[in-house]
Amino acid sequence: MEAGNLHTSEPVHLSERLAKIASWILPDCRVADIGGDHGWLLLSVAQKGLLGQGIIGEVNKGPFENAAGRIQAYGLGQQIDVRLGDGLSVLRDGEVDQIVIAGMGGALITSILDAGKSKLESVKRLVLQPNIGGHRVRQWLVANRWKLIHEEIVYDAEIYYEMIVAERGAEDVYENQPIPRLILERIGPLLWRNRDPLLRAKMQEELGQMQKVYKQLSNGQSGQAIQRRRELEREMEMWEQVMNWLYEEQN
Ligand code: SAM
Repeated sequence: MEAGNLHTSEPVHLSERLAKIASWILPDCRVADIGGDHGWLLLSVAQKGLLGQGIIGEVNKGPFENAAGRIQAYGLGQQIDVRLGDGLSVLRDGEVDQIVIAGMGGALITSILDAGKSKLESVKRLVLQPNIGGHRVRQWLVANRWKLIHEEIVYDAEIYYEMIVAERGAEDVYENQPIPRLILERIGPLLWRNRDPLLRAKMQEELGQMQKVYKQLSNGQSGQAIQRRRELEREMEMWEQVMNWLYEEQN
């Protein structure tokens, strides 16, 4: 904070992951960042003059106080309201046009969306960034008539992150693809269709993780272990096939 100035005006620098999320927020809209934690995302969008009104929702007191303090320090309390509460319960019906839910597992993201369906009626765009379980988010979107408009992989601090942007509609992006739907839900239909430049590297990493789990299960004789091994064999085979297709196209 500068001497003689009540508020800081230091420019906010977002991580690559958050910057990518910010780039998918439509300008001059009413945006909620659920699980907004540090508060940097909406702070940065506001500082660039691209935010209409913002709401940061936080279920935990520590991050809530942290975000609220930061928004006050930047003098943006009129534009960004920080609220303590679970998921979409912090919103009133019709209050926002866009919702961001980032940095959580896909199961938690879908449970937040499911529990707050009435708050979604005014929402035109969802920007979701599941750390794991992206397929659950994709399945929820189809089941609730949201269509994928963009998917992208961001490599930040040596982690591959998936970002999913959806708007209302029912276009089936899974149709007419050479990959079974269940597998495509895990790979990301638009990551595949657009040949995301990081898809192969991300799949390579996931294949390594599957191989590790497979090895750990190799001595298991329970029905469950045998079934999981079979599933993993099928998944690994599919992963290798898709990676080969991507490799052949790129070479
Ligand atoms: N969205 C930020 C980002 O992407 O950098 C922060 C991600 S942080 C790992 C997840 C945050 O979500 C935490 O601050 C946690 O308290 C919050 N959170 C978890 N479950 C929540 C819920 N049901 N409602 C609101 N916030 C939640």
